[in-house]
Amino acid sequence: MLEVSDIHAAYGQVQALRGVSFSVNAGEIVCLVGRNGAGKTTTIKSIMGLLPVSSGAVSLDGRDLTEMPAHMIPREGIGYIPQGRRLFPELSVEENIEVGLMTRGEGRETRDWVLDLFPRLRERLKQTAGTLSGGEQQMLATARALCLRPKLLLLDEPTEGLQPSMIDLIIDVVVKMKAEGLAIVLVEQRVDTVLSLSDRAVFIENGRSVDTATPAELAQSPDKITKYLGV
Ligand code: ATP
Repeated sequence: MLEVSDIHAAYGQVQALRGVSFSVNAGEIVCLVGRNGAGKTTTIKSIMGLLPVSSGAVSLDGRDLTEMPAHMIPREGIGYIPQGRRLFPELSVEENIEVGLMTRGEGRETRDWVLDLFPRLRERLKQTAGTLSGGEQQMLATARALCLRPKLLLLDEPTEGLQPSMIDLIIDVVVKMKAEGLAIVLVEQRVDTVLSLSDRAVFIENGRSVDTATPAELAQSPDKITKYLGV
């Protein structure tokens, strides 16, 4: 489904990516793992066209994304939940969801589907997004991304700063989406989540993908986690 092949990207003079490659199939969760500043977020931004790649290729079901304007990429069926959530804080829960639905012209059925996944949002439709708790904001950001009925979901540290019950809720939904056949890329620092959730971990170091391992392989050689995460 998603193929990322040897992408390079820079912020002005700062070379952030110098060779990242990995692929994700339908129904798979791939975790991007690495230390702070390794290039995980930049990899996701490059897939979304928010930072142009200087070389390499990104394709979704064989369609080249690198030549596409950034605003068209979500319409290809990619739901992106950025780090820090970035909702419209002054709009209500309902209005934030409406914005998500509009991107691909989705209607009532999709709205019901996302609200069934997050009943707590249904109870808070009129509440201003900026006044939701951190966990509720993460739910809303996820719900909004799902309003596109994506085939690929990109989540950048969705559980960061959340309390355990909220983490479980978000993870539940990620597992459900995998079961529905979505391809999922997850940037994740929590080793237990990587081990329990992913089909593969891709290790990023200094802007390069340097290794990949299944949870079973990681259980055999936990030194990889120490090496690439420093924990
Ligand atoms: P973290 O876990 O801390 O979020 P990360 O692996 O996601 O880290 P990135 O945010 O992708 O790392 O950053 C990769 C490199 O690019 C870092 O050296 C960072 O300082 C640099 N970088 C990120 N954003 C910018 C920017 N807007 N301008 C210049 N350099 C940037």
